[in-house]
Amino acid sequence: MTSAPSDADRRRAVEPVICYPNDTLPAPEMALYAAARATARKQSETWVPPRDARCFRVPAGHFFRITSVEGPQVGDLNLWNADDLSERFYSGKTRALHGTHITKGERMWSGFPYLRPMATVVADTLGWYGIDDYGGSVHDVIGTRCDPYTGNLLAGTQYHHCCHSNLTRALAQELGVSPAEAEPFVHDVLNVFMCTGFTRDTGQYFMKASPVRPGDYLEFFAEIDLLGGLSACPGGDCSAEHSSDVAACHPLLVEVFAPEPGALEGWLPPARNGYDRSHGVGSGD
Ligand SMILES: [Zn+2]
Repeated sequence: MTSAPSDADRRRAVEPVICYPNDTLPAPEMALYAAARATARKQSETWVPPRDARCFRVPAGHFFRITSVEGPQVGDLNLWNADDLSERFYSGKTRALHGTHITKGERMWSGFPYLRPMATVVADTLGWYGIDDYGGSVHDVIGTRCDPYTGNLLAGTQYHHCCHSNLTRALAQELGVSPAEAEPFVHDVLNVFMCTGFTRDTGQYFMKASPVRPGDYLEFFAEIDLLGGLSACPGGDCSAEHSSDVAACHPLLVEVFAPEPGALEGWLPPARNGYDRSHGVGSGD
């Protein structure tokens, strides 16, 4: 242990600054989305069985809603550009831009070199939860996804229904490819309905029983043509353990809603990020 300097307390007392002030982020057109949503009709639905995953497609300008049914259940969500799977959700940058958990008015951003909104949260019936006394909140972008490799590392197990494997199977089936070909496209998730945080004393990732009740939902506006994957986590409400068949698990429902033609007059999907990608080569600066 190195000894603390004499001014240690003063250094700890320095006030933090926000890394990415987001007041210059392009604001989602929430009023336009709400007006379009008021005209929307349900187009399709996908049921995600417990401890399994399904894929679904959402055209740009449509809405998709993830609903808790039957009992408390956490969902692990992956998003891809439906026309180019190399563009996928980037949980790390979404976290840097919006914070550890996302809610209405915040967005799921894609990775480099695209870095554009893929989906915008337009409704969150758990928005009332806020941040609890443990620092926990709902719908996090801090966890990764439960996976069989970490289970094997920590406990030597071979468990096949972690969200990572569920998403791999679902994507393989959707694309008509092998699990080995699909697996590299599976990425860190948005933990829908999951209640998580970091312990203040040790900084460790924690989970606690999700406050989600049947009927609660999280709804998104698709900014680009999307392929989604949703896993009903083997952790159930994530109150105790995951990566096993111990927890009570329930299905999740995904519904897609199409607004009336013309309801999004003047709206266009966001363009790819404007950085020129020369990375300082040949530009002289
Ligand atoms: Zn999981």
